[in-house]
Amino acid sequence: MKTVHAICEEVRSGVTTCEAEVNRLLDEVKGNAHLNAFLEVWAEEALQEARRIDAKVKAGTAGRLAGAVLGLKDNICVQNHRVSASSRILEGFVSQYAATVVERLLAEDAILLGRLSCDEFAMGSSNENSAYGPVRNPIDPERVPGGSSGGSAAAVAAGLVHAALGTDTGGSIRQPASFTGTVGLKPTYGRVSRHGIIAYGSSFDQVGPITHTVADAALLLELMAGADAYDTTASKRAVAPYSQHLHLSGKRRFAVLKECIESPGLNPAVKASVERVIDLLRQQGHEVSFVEFPYLKYLVPTYYVLTTAEASSNLGRYSGVHYGYRSPHATDLESTYKQSRSKGFGTEVKRRIMLGTFVLSAGYYDAYYAKGQKVRRVIRDHTNSLFESFDAILTPTTPGPAFKFGQKGADPIQMYLEDIFTVQANICGIPAISVPCGKTEEGLPMGVQLMTKAFEEEQLLALAHHLETLLATAS
Ligand code: GLN
Repeated sequence: MKTVHAICEEVRSGVTTCEAEVNRLLDEVKGNAHLNAFLEVWAEEALQEARRIDAKVKAGTAGRLAGAVLGLKDNICVQNHRVSASSRILEGFVSQYAATVVERLLAEDAILLGRLSCDEFAMGSSNENSAYGPVRNPIDPERVPGGSSGGSAAAVAAGLVHAALGTDTGGSIRQPASFTGTVGLKPTYGRVSRHGIIAYGSSFDQVGPITHTVADAALLLELMAGADAYDTTASKRAVAPYSQHLHLSGKRRFAVLKECIESPGLNPAVKASVERVIDLLRQQGHEVSFVEFPYLKYLVPTYYVLTTAEASSNLGRYSGVHYGYRSPHATDLESTYKQSRSKGFGTEVKRRIMLGTFVLSAGYYDAYYAKGQKVRRVIRDHTNSLFESFDAILTPTTPGPAFKFGQKGADPIQMYLEDIFTVQANICGIPAISVPCGKTEEGLPMGVQLMTKAFEEEQLLALAHHLETLLATAS
């Protein structure tokens, strides 16, 4: 499995070429078609780009990502390319412009291999909500890759691309990363521009990388982050050279949320893997303390009240009039709306639009949406208060490893509980990363999650890199 750093070095030093690497990966994509990770492969274009970048490498003018072949979650726009959010309602839709993150990566000579499947409109935790069929987990094809960025995680884990971009509203980068043994980084809210990303929950959404290593995540973040005139939520704070600041010096203080570790639904292997991480950190002289977090049970309800409200507003634009699919049976404006949406949206998306419309409705607004906002504030204040005494919060990324297809689909609440440890970072707007931390007896990967204060990606990545090194040397 090649990392971004490794391939860029090989291309720079002439060990291989972009063209040879793209050809190799295209063969891998063909050989792994059963994973169903790609919705579309841009083979010809990737090869053309590879040749163009090979010439730049020869001329000594290539960018920092020359050699890197990336995949994009299908909710990230590329100019003149289709994008569907894995939904029928965007069938045939072609984007007129590229996301800022895409432009920044292309400016560094990254090559894009294609669109990767996800849960429809990024709503889900298993990729079973894609209108284009489930994605298989390369570690065990009978199991889900996680979601909603399931195609991105599967493609990286299977070695079909060197890294991929995903989006994370409540865990959609970190949970599939933990299910596939990859690294998933959700940056601080506002660290990375969302211009050109299909919106789900606008006060939660962030875009970030899924990679093999923390160093690769740091490099991609460094190249994507920063102010953007097209997104007023993108912060103007300076972007540090994260990939060059990975060395951790000194001892740190970690808070482990007691309620997470004692949570009855926590898989014993996951619990043991986090305990091992705690031991390793303590052996290095770091301080690890168990702290109370009395709001664990409010995280998932708060997340689902607020994000469904935002989704019901964001998805209002898919009416059959402006974008994508329009029902051929529509006869007037109202039937255009009704029929296009009924056919165009899948079950989970409809459920969330209805839930979100309900929590925003006149009679229930105060009871749900306004209350949800207040609880969000309480959770955020409490979480931030922990950072007065600790450098980072440590939890498992998910309650258990990858599950089998259909195992949680029947009961949405069961599926929503998958997000119990990941939504906190989105509710609070803080950065979070999932780092692989071993495998269960069945060989299924598990992840440990670190969170820091907002805009402390430098520290977060250095801690994650430290942990990654400790785990590699301990095993
Ligand atoms: N699994 C969560 C959900 O279904 C998270 C999704 C996301 O982060 N996009 O909403």
